[in-house]
Amino acid sequence: MQAEIVTIGTELLLGKIVDTNAAYIAQQLATIGLDLYYKTTVGDNEGRITSVLQQALARSDVVITSGGLGPTVDDVTRQAVARAAVRELVLDKKLLAQIEARFARHGFTMSENNRRQAYIPQGAIPIENPVGTAPAFTVETEQGLIISLPGVPRELKHLMETRVIPFLREKLQTGQVIIKSKTLRTCGIGESTVDSRIGDLMRSSNPTVGLAAHPGQTDVRITAKAENEAQADRLIAEMEEELRERLGDVIYGIEAQELEDVVAAMVAERGLSVAIVETNTQGLITQRLENVSQDRPILRDSYIVILPEDAVEIVSPLRSLIKEYGLVSVQVATATAEYLRETTKVDISLAVFGSMEERQGLFAESAGETHIALNTAEGTTQRAYKYGGTSELVKSWVSNAALDMVRRSLIKT
Ligand code: ATP
Ligand code: MG
Repeated sequence: MQAEIVTIGTELLLGKIVDTNAAYIAQQLATIGLDLYYKTTVGDNEGRITSVLQQALARSDVVITSGGLGPTVDDVTRQAVARAAVRELVLDKKLLAQIEARFARHGFTMSENNRRQAYIPQGAIPIENPVGTAPAFTVETEQGLIISLPGVPRELKHLMETRVIPFLREKLQTGQVIIKSKTLRTCGIGESTVDSRIGDLMRSSNPTVGLAAHPGQTDVRITAKAENEAQADRLIAEMEEELRERLGDVIYGIEAQELEDVVAAMVAERGLSVAIVETNTQGLITQRLENVSQDRPILRDSYIVILPEDAVEIVSPLRSLIKEYGLVSVQVATATAEYLRETTKVDISLAVFGSMEERQGLFAESAGETHIALNTAEGTTQRAYKYGGTSELVKSWVSNAALDMVRRSLIKT
């Protein structure tokens, strides 16, 4: 096991104060025989602190930081640790209560700034600081442990002596802990919906459960800490069972599995074929399926429609519908999917009709629209989305939504 020190503060870089904290921490680590190979000093800059911490985590097991935990805007250690640990900053109600109680005890009113100090990275464990106001905390990441301590020497010394050193001594004795994780991949529901269904599980300390959002997809990561692999697997399995019960079929896969991997495999296993007409995704759905199903081709036909004229060429019998409702409409999407399946004799047809302006998007003022229709022997399923356009974000959002519709239609068969 090896440790690393990161002292934070522009004053240290300016030479206005001497970095006595680093020397003190180093001496303390030596007393318990914990190897120290690096110490870094960085200014009060979130980006630079983050990158120093990332580097430290990559090469050391324990990273101890000093400073930047105060209530002012230049105290950015919390944010940087959250970023390096890939966690959200969340309000810790217990910490907030402690800070409030301390202010009440001293007869001061608490400022909004002090609330900042109650935000710590998701899953972090607060270390109570009885000698000051800056709360300290530890965060266990897959790469290693970060221990963040206040910069005021008296506070730092107290916490090192009473909390950190005893903790590290025990960690050294019990030997190596293994950390293992598993990612469950969901799609078709937003991060906040996932959060509302499993929010309570996200407060679990071992295994931890964390979320990472991508366009139209949310990953749920379970991370267990244990003495050996079997124990870690057991912890993960129990949590996974609970998560699957709560989330059901919005979980489409695990680890690095992409939606197209799962959809292509489902289609191929059932011996089915697919045809696609896509507009604002500009061929992305086709490309995703082609990339993964090369040995077992499932795509029988694919049309990439960029201009309305292209659409009329493919679906000429629908000319009057396009005239009446416009290219981007439920009617045209539905009729195209039906026409496509009939004429190309596939089992599954997909029509994606979305507006094509480049500057539209998920968050743009004029969001456009997209209609997706899926046709199988069972009939047509149709979905409307209130955004269109051809930004990268919309393309991945819409292609995920379309692939998920195919997946859902196949789950039932
Ligand atoms: P606070 O709540 O006091 O703001 P903090 O965790 O934000 O705590 P800093 O603001 O970085 O800590 O530092 C507070 C004071 O502690 C500094 O003004 C300085 O006097 C002292 N200090 C900070 N870092 C060190 C260090 N590495 N070595 C010695 N003294 C330090
Ligand atoms: Mg400060």
